[in-house]
Amino acid sequence: MPSLDDFARQKLSTLEQAHLRRTLVPTGRLGDLYVERNGRRLLSFSCNDYLGLAHHPALKAAAIAAIERHGVGAGASRLVTGDHPLYGELELSLARLKGTDAACVFGSGYLANAGITPALVGRGDLILIDELAQSSLWTGARLSRAEVLAFRHNDAGHVAGLLKQHRASHPRALIVTESVFSMDGDCAPLAKLARLASGADAWLMVDDAHDLDFAAGADVPLRIGTLSKAFGGYGGYLCASQPVIDLVRNRARTLVYSTGLPPATVAAAIAALDLIEREPGRLKLPLAKARLFTRAAGLPEATSAIVPVVIGQAAAALAASKLLDAEGYLAVAIRPPTVPEGTARLRLSFSAAHPDAEIERLGDIVRTRILRNA
Ligand SMILES: *Cc1c(COP(=O)(O)O)cnc(C)c1O
Repeated sequence: MPSLDDFARQKLSTLEQAHLRRTLVPTGRLGDLYVERNGRRLLSFSCNDYLGLAHHPALKAAAIAAIERHGVGAGASRLVTGDHPLYGELELSLARLKGTDAACVFGSGYLANAGITPALVGRGDLILIDELAQSSLWTGARLSRAEVLAFRHNDAGHVAGLLKQHRASHPRALIVTESVFSMDGDCAPLAKLARLASGADAWLMVDDAHDLDFAAGADVPLRIGTLSKAFGGYGGYLCASQPVIDLVRNRARTLVYSTGLPPATVAAAIAALDLIEREPGRLKLPLAKARLFTRAAGLPEATSAIVPVVIGQAAAALAASKLLDAEGYLAVAIRPPTVPEGTARLRLSFSAAHPDAEIERLGDIVRTRILRNA
């Protein structure tokens, strides 16, 4: 179809001109820290494997044992025959970790977010969502057909104003945010949002994908997370009360109409949770490493394992990434539409396993050769 190919070429060329075209780069992960890309071995500051669990021997052994016992695929949706026995154990552990009655595991964090919101609110209802919320949260909000209003990033005052103005004219209201923002590393004012939500009979839904503080205190009835970052594997989940979990299992289309996770993936997640319960000290390391970096780079103190080095223009962010590549570091440039126009950046993520000397050297390079020119 010439018109189809022409369309694709034209779109790509527009992206190319704006330095926004993306390509897949085959990347082999060589253990916890190093990757192989374009024939080079680089120390990665772009993986979300915060606890270095993706290559952990206990997780690998659990996954291999599950394959031997249960095979490689779930065979059907969880509601048909795909609910293999490991799921129940994982959901119990997740609920215990987050201090909720129950949990429901999805195929991925994206699928969880795309499915949960439309299961809870619909046409005529109200969604207030942080303007910087991750794409999957926006997908869920839009699919629900509710009225969607964005609030200014982390601005609880704006949420209060929107509730005052719009809450009464909608039967149900959902407030959607992230506990730790994926591209900025800053934290939502959860205690304030929880108070506003309960005062207005609105439901607070928080995506904890990058939150390593599993004991998080605020009163949040809907906690979403991923098994693909700190847990080192793959999958998504919701922790909530038993009735909410039962409803989501009935109504979330991304759960009902999609095949269950492979048994090995569920087994690896169980092993990850076990490890975290036995060695909770690991959870504090990524933030400590991020703070070591922000001190060395002369940046404001890190508030999570994610540190944005905001450059501005996409081309400049690509150049900064290339400079670090030449020094042996992988820091992928993040460009619009993942981040707002004019805020292209290096988004660095710190792992429990990063050596301090490398972090300090990276901080030095960022301070003297990237931020000075930005
Ligand atoms: C990564 C991410 C997701 C998606 O999770 P996957 O398991 O990778 O699909 C959802 N929400 C946020 C905030 C994320 O950063």
